[in-house]
Amino acid sequence: MPYKIFHFKSLASTQDKAREFSEKGLSNIVVIADVQTKGRGRFKRKWFSNSGGLYLSILLKPKNIQNLQYLTFAASIAVVKSIKKIANLSTSIKWPNDVHYKGKKLCGILTEGIFGKGNYAIVGVGLNVNQNKFPSEIKNIAASLKIIKKQNFNINNIAKSILDEFCTLYNYYNKNQFEIILKIWKKYCDTINKNVTAITKTKKLNGKAVGIDKNCNLLLKTKSNKIIKIIEGDINIRY
Ligand code: ATP
Repeated sequence: MPYKIFHFKSLASTQDKAREFSEKGLSNIVVIADVQTKGRGRFKRKWFSNSGGLYLSILLKPKNIQNLQYLTFAASIAVVKSIKKIANLSTSIKWPNDVHYKGKKLCGILTEGIFGKGNYAIVGVGLNVNQNKFPSEIKNIAASLKIIKKQNFNINNIAKSILDEFCTLYNYYNKNQFEIILKIWKKYCDTINKNVTAITKTKKLNGKAVGIDKNCNLLLKTKSNKIIKIIEGDINIRY
């Protein structure tokens, strides 16, 4: 997939800038910002986006918009592979959208769909690269490549690698070959076979993560051997 990169020093949100491009009918656009002043995660949660991180959003016009969750999976794989290649570090994917190292969050992925005259998907990646420290709200849960490896990394090289890896997977996505993406994703995901607590707004559920269904939902087996489907939209997972 040929794409065009737009690089900004500072943006409110790369997702929102990508959305502006979609309103002009454009696609295969990559928006990168050195800092974001209103970076967000799922459910409008704040994504701390100070300088030293990689903040990029990929604006796509996929043929199939029914299975956007696979784009989150594809981006997570691209991030894990790029970190391995560039920082020689083995990281893991936590369902549905995090990449972490020893439980510390390095990267969050946010896929948003825009449905209307034209259908678009925007895949956002926030990756902690060269930060030395984090604000107190996240200092116990976040890590950066610099903090782990004690060296700086070239953010543009990481971006390029993520985009290359992502494009390969996006070809599978556009051919509806979701099972190929899922198979690779499972190699890097450490949620499956773990005992987890799924937290919704109203309750907590303990169980063993036993698999992923074809819509990328997590399947949880409870103590009473019931299989419960955990849908991404309303849940947080704790190991
Ligand atoms: P969780 O990781 O807690 O299960 P989530 O996957 O839903 O939640 P996201 O919506 O992807 O989380 O990201 C937002 C959350 O990530 C914030 O609430 C905060 O806890 C954490 N966070 C925010 N900024 C960063 C950052 N730069 N690095 C690591 N974690 C961050």
